[in-house]
Formats: sequence, C-alpha cells, structure tokens
Amino acid sequence: MADREPPILVIGAGILGLSTAWHLVERGAEVLVIDRDRISDGASSGNAGLISFGHPPLTRPGVSIQGLKWMFDRTSPLYIKPRLDAELLRWMWSFHRHCNQRHFERCMEVLCALGGLSATCFESMLADTNIDCDWRRSGWDDVCMFDSTLDHAEEEAALLEPFGYRSRRIDGDTLRAENPVWKSSVSGAIRYEDSATVNPHAFTAGLARELAARGVRFRHDCTVASLVERGDAIIGVRLDSGEEIEATSTVLTAGVWSDTIARGIDLRIPMQPARGYHRDLGGLEHVPSLGCVLNETFIAVTPFHDTLRLAGTLEIAGFNAPWLEDRLGHLTDACGRYLNGIDDAVVTSEWAGYRPCTPDGLPAIGRVTTHEGLFVGTGHAMMGMTLGPGSGRILAETILGETPSYQSGMLSPMRF
Ligand SMILES: Cc1cc2nc3c(=O)[nH]c(=O)nc-3n(C[C@H](O)[C@H](O)[C@H](O)COP(=O)(O)OP(=O)(O)OC[C@H]3O[C@@H](n4cnc5c(N)ncnc54)[C@H](O)[C@@H]3O)c2cc1C
Repeated sequence: MADREPPILVIGAGILGLSTAWHLVERGAEVLVIDRDRISDGASSGNAGLISFGHPPLTRPGVSIQGLKWMFDRTSPLYIKPRLDAELLRWMWSFHRHCNQRHFERCMEVLCALGGLSATCFESMLADTNIDCDWRRSGWDDVCMFDSTLDHAEEEAALLEPFGYRSRRIDGDTLRAENPVWKSSVSGAIRYEDSATVNPHAFTAGLARELAARGVRFRHDCTVASLVERGDAIIGVRLDSGEEIEATSTVLTAGVWSDTIARGIDLRIPMQPARGYHRDLGGLEHVPSLGCVLNETFIAVTPFHDTLRLAGTLEIAGFNAPWLEDRLGHLTDACGRYLNGIDDAVVTSEWAGYRPCTPDGLPAIGRVTTHEGLFVGTGHAMMGMTLGPGSGRILAETILGETPSYQSGMLSPMRF
C-alpha cells in the first residue's frame, strides 16, 4: 500500500486557523492543526464578539496624530508605550503614512468585500453544525453620549451604504423605551443592522469540536520553532522539541506570532501586538439587548446569556508587559456612564489578548510566492473574529488551486 500523503498543516488554532481548516476539510483535504496552547485560548477566544461587517480599518485619517497625543495617557483608547525600539518606530512611521483618505477608501473596498464573504461563511458554518454560541444576527449599536458624536457616527455609517451595509439612527428615548438599561444622558445610537454578535469562545471551541468530528487532527501543546525548507519549498515545520512534521502545504495562521516564525525564512509580516482587555460582569438586572460600542470610549459591550462582556483598549507595549490594572477599572467606569446598574455588577472574569496589527490596516492572506507550499493568514487587527471565516475560505481555495472567492493585491503577504 502506498504511503499516505502528508497533511496540510495549519499553525495556530485561532479563528484564522480553524476557519481555514473548515474550508479545507469541506473540500476533502486532510488537515492537521497544531497549537502551542490549549485550543481556543488566544485573541480569538476572548474578544468582544462583535461581528461587524464593513468595519473601517485602524488606519483612518488623523488616527496617527491622535495616537501620538494619547501616547502618554495610560487610560486613552489607543496607548503606545513610549520606548526606543527601531521595529516599533518603523511600524509607527509606516502606520502614519497609511492614515490618509485615499488609503482609507481603498481599504474600505477590500474590507467590505471580505466582510460580505465572511457573512456568507458564518451563516453556512452555523447552518451545517450544532455550535451553540449565542449567534445573534440583529446588528450592533454605536451608542453616543453626545449629539455631536451621534451626528459624526451617522456620517461614518453613511460611508458603508454604497457597499450595501444598512444603518439607522435611533434617538435616546427610543433606545430607552427598547431597554431601560440606557441612562438618560445617552443621546442615541447608530444601529448597524447587518452585523451580528457571537460568543467567541463558544464559537471557536465549537468549531474545533466540529472539525475533529469531520476528521481534522489536532495537536495541542506543540510550539512551532521554525519552518523546514527544502530548496525553495516549505516541507513542514520543526517543533521546539526538535520533532519535524512533514506537510504538503503549510499555513501560517499563528496570529501576531506569525511574523516571528516567518522571519526564519527572511519573510516579513510586520505586526505590532496590540493588547486589549475584557472584563465580564454578572449579576445585572438589565443588559443591552444588542452588542454595542460606547462611541466616545471605544469600549465594546456584548451580552452573552447572563453575562455582559466589556472589551477594549488598544495598547501597543510589546509582548508580556504587565497588565495595566487601571485599564480594567476604566472599562467598568466608562460603562457606568452609559448603562444603569453597573455598580451592582460582579466581575466574573478578566482577560487580555493580542490583536495582530499590520501598519497598513489590512490583513495578509494568501500564497508566499518565494516559497512553494507556504500560505499566510494573519494581521486582522480588531477585525479577525469578523473576517476570519471569509479569509479562511480564500486561503483554502488558494491552497487547493481554486479561484479564490475574493482577490486583491492589497491583501498579499508579499506586500511588505
Ligand atoms: C480585546 C479584544 C477585542 C476584540 N474584539 C473583536 C471583535 O469584537 N470583533 C472582531 O472581529 N475582532 C475582535 N478582536 C480581534 C480578534 O480577536 C483578532 O483579530 C483575531 O482573534 C485574530 O485571530 P488569529 O487566529 O489571527 O490569531 P489568534 O487568535 O491569536 O490565534 C493564533 C494562535 O496561534 C497559536 N500560536 C502562536 N505561535 C505559535 C507557535 N509558535 N506554535 C504553535 N502555535 C502558535 C496561538 O497559541 C494562538 O492560538 C478583538 C481582539 C481583542 C484583543
């Protein structure tokens, strides 16, 4: 009997790795997923769970200048820890150059198309499985304290209309009539009607279970130390234990750590780890009926069954910097300005994770043209939960030689 072909090897069991595995196994491929941790323990597990199709990129006009102003404020929504680090300075310069209107408009075209594809993928994944993940396709609210920010939010939402994403303005009284949780000081909200919310841990853990049932193999507690090269091809990976795993194709979906692995073969996917926190609250009498973002604070608030998740802050301080405890307190304090009953809530969990942020605000999805058999899916920053299922489909199609459902040079992992 002939030896079996080695599998397609997926590095990382976050939303990108799992989604890629899903689309590969759907097409009959043999897949092995490896992760250095327990499955679903990273950013993909602890995020806010807002599935925000058509969300704009981080690289918006004016954001880099605002970021510099916030640099010394540990409670600002975007905090860059001041330090002399050539890598960080290069990233910041490139980020600054991309914060302009023309790039923003080009990003919106790409992200809106990717969002539409991801929406289709979410729906079909959920229809074909029994994943219990509190999926709600009823939109999310951008809740504003002030009339001026509500006007501005309405203008931002209008930018998505040409791409087919609907939104509507809701005044504060209507919001409070829907749900008494909102304080009288809240001015109103913009409702993004086509979006959704999901419990991210329940979704990724459920997806991993479904994949295993469909024959995808998993290896946990395996850290990839390097890619194995033979000539111009990648033929698998070497673990930190020294063990080598052979693969027909290798998919680098290791979140913000993908860059470290790629550097071993002189490939650069420049990313900064942008840490965010969540704090889960229980014991609340009223919770918002939809997920929302508290506009003036950039804090996301998502209801999951009897829990309310507060998530936010984008902190660029390198890996393993100590948690900034005041940021967790800030989540609750800010939320208390918009919602009733927060003072009586009980903190049920706290968490921090890293968003993989490229300097141009776009993910890197596709084939590595310098090395046969290597594919990349990372850099989704604040949007990985939303765009992961669509990106995974593009990757699977590319790996198997099909025409990808969406293509753009702006997503190429070779662009850096
Ligand atoms: C606070 C916060 C809130 C967020 N809210 C939202 C939101 O509301 N909506 C949204 O769309 N997105 C949100 N995001 C962003 C989203 O969570 C990320 O973009 C997404 O999870 C990235 O997925 P990933 O699969 O690329 O990476 P990860 O989830 O980080 O997965 C990478 C995996 O690779 C593994 N790995 C790394 N190195 C190795 C190695 N050497 N060997 C083996 N395995 C390795 C890791 O263990 C990990 O499991 C949020 C993020 C944060 C931090």
